[in-house]
Order: sequence, then C-alpha cells, then structure tokens
Amino acid sequence: MIIDVHGHYTTAPKALEEWRNRQIAGIKDPSVKPKPSELKISDDELRDSIVNNQLKLMKERGSDLTVFSPRASFMAHHIGDFEVSSTWAAICNELCFRVSKLFPDNFMGVAMLPQSPGVDPKTCIPEIEKCIKEYGFVGINLNPDPSGGHWTSPPLSDRHWYPIYEKMVELDIPAMIHVSTSCNACFHTTGSHYLNADTTAFMQCLTSDLFKDFPKLRFLIPHGGGAVPYHWGRFRGLAQEMKKPLLKDHLLNNIFFDTCVYHQPGIDLLTKVIPVENVLFASEMIGAVRGIDPETGFYYDDTKRYIEGATTLSAEDRYKIYEGNARRVFPRLDAALKAQGK
Ligand SMILES: [Zn+2]
Repeated sequence: MIIDVHGHYTTAPKALEEWRNRQIAGIKDPSVKPKPSELKISDDELRDSIVNNQLKLMKERGSDLTVFSPRASFMAHHIGDFEVSSTWAAICNELCFRVSKLFPDNFMGVAMLPQSPGVDPKTCIPEIEKCIKEYGFVGINLNPDPSGGHWTSPPLSDRHWYPIYEKMVELDIPAMIHVSTSCNACFHTTGSHYLNADTTAFMQCLTSDLFKDFPKLRFLIPHGGGAVPYHWGRFRGLAQEMKKPLLKDHLLNNIFFDTCVYHQPGIDLLTKVIPVENVLFASEMIGAVRGIDPETGFYYDDTKRYIEGATTLSAEDRYKIYEGNARRVFPRLDAALKAQGK
C-alpha cells in the first residue's frame, strides 16, 4: 500500500470559505455572525470536490490512502478568540469526517485543533476526544504558533503544552507539527513560515528533555523537516555542545519526517541523512506547489517519483516509507486498516 500521511482538504466547496468570511466579519459585527447550521454542503458536493481532485491524482500517481486534515492555511488560529476557533475547527473537522465516511478506503482523518493565542491548550481536549473517539481520526495537527508568525506561545517543550501531550499518549496518536497562515509580513506562509516552523519545532525538542517526560510522544515534522536534514551536522554538533545524547537516541524515537520535498536531490538527501525508519511518504497535494517542474515535465508535488528515483533505497526501505512507518507512527490507522482486512 502507499499511504500519503499529509493531505489537506484544500478543495472544499466554496460555501465553506463564504461561511468563514461571514464568521470573520461577525467578530466585528455580531449581527452578521453565521450559525454553523447555515453552512450547507451536500454529500454530492463533497464527493465532487474529492473525486475530481485528490482522488483523481491519487489514482494517477498510485497512492492508496491519504491521511486527511482541514486546510492548514485556513486554520488561521490567530483570528478571533477561542469561540471562533472552536466553531471553525468543529466545522472543518466534520467535513473531513464526512469525506472519510464517503471514501473509507482512501481517506482517514486528522484533526485540526481549536487553538487560540494565549488560551490554555487544554481547551482543545474535547475536540481531540470527539475527533478520535467519534470520528475515528488517527492523529492531530498541532500548531506551535497560533499567533500566525509572531511566536507568542512558549516552546513545544514547555509544560504549557503538556495537557495535549498527555491526551496524545493516552489515545496513542501522533501530532503533525503544522503552522497556519503567516500574518507577519516577513514570513511567506508556505515558503518560509512553514519551513521555519518545522526547523524551529525540531530545535525546541533538541534543546529540551521533552521525550524523557513523554517517551511515547510522536511528532511528525512535515515538509521534509524544514532545514533539519540539510543541516544535520549543525544539529548534531549543537546537541554535542549541550551534552545531549546522540540525536538518534535523543530525538529519533519520537520525531519523524515526511517526504514533502519537491525535487529529487532533496529526497536523496533526506533519505541518506535521516534513517528510513523515520521517513513517512507524503505529498501534501493538492497544496502549496501545484505546478509542473519544467526540468522534469512532472508535477513538483508528485513525490512518489522521487522515492522511486532514490537509487540508494532498497525495496524494504520503500515499504517502510510508503506503509510500514505510517502503520507504526499512526497505530489507529494500522488498526483501522486491519479492520478493513488490509
Ligand atoms: Zn500541510
């Protein structure tokens, strides 16, 4: 099987965005604030939005299952207060749940959290419980910077976040560390804020002893780990200066990277530097980079081509990247697949 662990519902019907725009307008003018029940999207509309987009590309490119969460850049946790985020997260998660029910062989849900700057993360726990226990979701996306590029929250190693980690361990789910839209003009959302956050999250873990407190906690750092694989020597050297254990013991039982790196040399480096046990196949399609690479004639985000093209990988390595590691990092996904006889 080929499991893509990083997909977002970027192709949701327009009604969703229109509802969100009214919700945002309602922050200033409560008279225009919409009710959740005013958002009406039929199953046929959901089906069309998937069949002609993600599912079509999955079939063309040869992946079987996508781990599917609400559109990351639309999470926009910096907008409004907890109530705004909470209503928005519930709506977005429910749509992903409905997609997973319509296409149980092809999509499994991951929850967006109702985070809000300055609000205790433990307020996210009811949404996590609902998504995992009622919706059958297999993980969460955790935003380390709900302020959208101003980094006003404590680092991921701070006890601030522990209520979420305790719940993750209890439910045996991983978190993808995933920021949302940047509202800091210095950082382009997908070109710098995302990659900065990936690198920042890794370094926050490196400088801490978080995984001593939570030996079973699992973080998936997306976009190939930001700058981490490329600068692995720097990170190893910094850990050594800080008298930390070797990174393989200090972090690699708990941190995993996806393959959302959009060219062959990037994947070659990732799979050479990071143990294959820590690399999970993903494309983040249909996402930030939708064009065709003129150098190859193929879509940048057709990442399976790069795994196939990585000449140092064995068949066993490819199995781990495509399927085995995902089953290990997402035990609930593994259990759901086994229940389907897969
Ligand atoms: Zn993403």
